[in-house]
Amino acid sequence: MKSRHLVFLGPPASGKGTQGRRLADDQGLAYLSTGALLRQALRNQTELGERARPYLDRGEFVPDEIMVPMVLEWVGHQENGWLLDGFPRTLPQAEALDEALSEEPRAIILHVPDEELRRRVACRLECVDCHRVAREGEGPTCPTCGGRLEPRADDASSNFENRLQEYRRLVLPTISYYCRKGRARIVNGTGSPDEVYGRVKG
Ligand code: ADP
Repeated sequence: MKSRHLVFLGPPASGKGTQGRRLADDQGLAYLSTGALLRQALRNQTELGERARPYLDRGEFVPDEIMVPMVLEWVGHQENGWLLDGFPRTLPQAEALDEALSEEPRAIILHVPDEELRRRVACRLECVDCHRVAREGEGPTCPTCGGRLEPRADDASSNFENRLQEYRRLVLPTISYYCRKGRARIVNGTGSPDEVYGRVKG
């Protein structure tokens, strides 16, 4: 039976958002991108946004004490299946999620080499309204909702390199955790979005 609780892990710009949204739509799962949620909070200058801002500006992960309650609250409101894009990123986040659920989630891991990730961020755009990911040349407006497409402030090169380091330091052990439990599937994330999606669907 297909799991109704999925988490997407992968380095920054590995395609978690693009693939995660598509899979969630196809399987009728609720979808949450923690990165998009944080960027929205930043833009709206909410309390969450102001607490998260210093970390996002430096390309660091937002502390577990902020992320865990926020995501568990969202998960608690879901009556059906869901897909999380960008959570868990750390071991304590993965453990907190497991403890809160009766059915432990399955993880899809997108693997993309660093050089390809650097090429991708150099030309990535995001819709300020619906947070769809786009590429330079697709603009100036979002093909899905007509919102404005903009580069992400955190895709500036130094910020991106920090996120890549955070990925190695904190996310790789989280991936190992899912692998040890036999709940991870590693997918080759290179190629066109359609090619990758063919593998993601499995
Ligand atoms: P990317 O995967 O390209 O880094 P995301 O949109 O998934 O983009 O996340 C952007 C940033 O939001 C992260 O670098 C991190 O600072 C913060 N963030 C998102 N999810 C989490 C999380 N689960 N724990 C800590 N920080 C997070």
